[in-house]
Amino acid sequence: MKPRTENSTTFSIELFPPKDELGESRLWEAVEELALLNPDSVSVTYGAGGSTRDRTIRIADELTAHTGIPSVAHLTCVGSTRVELEQILDQYQAAKISTILALRGDPAGGPDAPWISTPSGLDHADQLVDLVRARGNFTVGVAAFPDGHPASHGDFAADIQVLLRKQAHGASFATTQFFFEIDAYSRLVDALAAAGSHLPIIAGVLPITNFKQLTRMAQLGGTPIPAAISERFAAVAGDEEAGVELGIEIATQLCEKLLSTGVPGIHFYTMNKAAATAAIVKNIGLR
Ligand SMILES: Cc1cc2nc3c(=O)[nH]c(=O)nc-3n(C[C@H](O)[C@H](O)[C@H](O)COP(=O)(O)OP(=O)(O)OC[C@H]3O[C@@H](n4cnc5c(N)ncnc54)[C@H](O)[C@@H]3O)c2cc1C
Repeated sequence: MKPRTENSTTFSIELFPPKDELGESRLWEAVEELALLNPDSVSVTYGAGGSTRDRTIRIADELTAHTGIPSVAHLTCVGSTRVELEQILDQYQAAKISTILALRGDPAGGPDAPWISTPSGLDHADQLVDLVRARGNFTVGVAAFPDGHPASHGDFAADIQVLLRKQAHGASFATTQFFFEIDAYSRLVDALAAAGSHLPIIAGVLPITNFKQLTRMAQLGGTPIPAAISERFAAVAGDEEAGVELGIEIATQLCEKLLSTGVPGIHFYTMNKAAATAAIVKNIGLR
């Protein structure tokens, strides 16, 4: 990640490794458009159970080679031994990927399903932060949850302790799950500040382009959808274009509020599509 200068807000985007050739050509079309906005970094997710391992590495590598934009590779503990994780980190390093988002990952049953340990593996993201820091000269980011982690069942104080521990282990920024209420973000930042932490909390913003898809993602991630948002989407149900415009408007308003709180960075969950993110970035004057 580029160092942040005073009064500047970083802008980053997230992509996932596509499953097939069509998805891959759509990804590169989106990258072409998004690269014009000159994001500070592009992150590439790591599929459930390590299913995208090779694609994550290849795409993160090619992204930086083609666009010059620094890439952030995600890595999870799911299904890998400590030695396998070290080997993946060596591949990241060989591909000159210098920033890792260190995550636990979800068990197959979802975020609040019982965790299944891998023999000789790691059970929590703070252990992965240690491993990443020990293995190479990486900058390490972690996940944060403004609406609480689903497995924490509302124990917000416990989530704060987890973040403080990750910072103590060497994480230098956190990126949030998507959220819709500015108060949830502010509560997280304020609680960390009250504990003496000024870990930069990059706000994860999801431009809603498909309300049905959002409902599924929100359930999985434990993000409540405010009734006002559901009602506004219900009013445009069946009109795809109006739905996309509404999603852009809602995300624009959230970003404006975030910028007014002095957010250190905004991270867009692009879902490998460029148009909505580009419109929001333009609306808020981030580029
Ligand atoms: C920005 C972002 C990007 C993501 N990218 C991906 C991705 O690419 N691939 C993917 O599979 N998933 C991804 N996820 C989802 C993430 O893997 C899940 O949310 C997962 O359930 C939690 O990951 P974590 O890193 O927060 O885990 P942890 O920090 O390990 O937390 C998981 C749970 O364990 C508790 N806990 C944490 N540490 C300890 C400890 N030492 N002792 C006891 N309890 C503890 C926490 O309170 C929490 O309830 C992403 C999430 C975010 C926010």
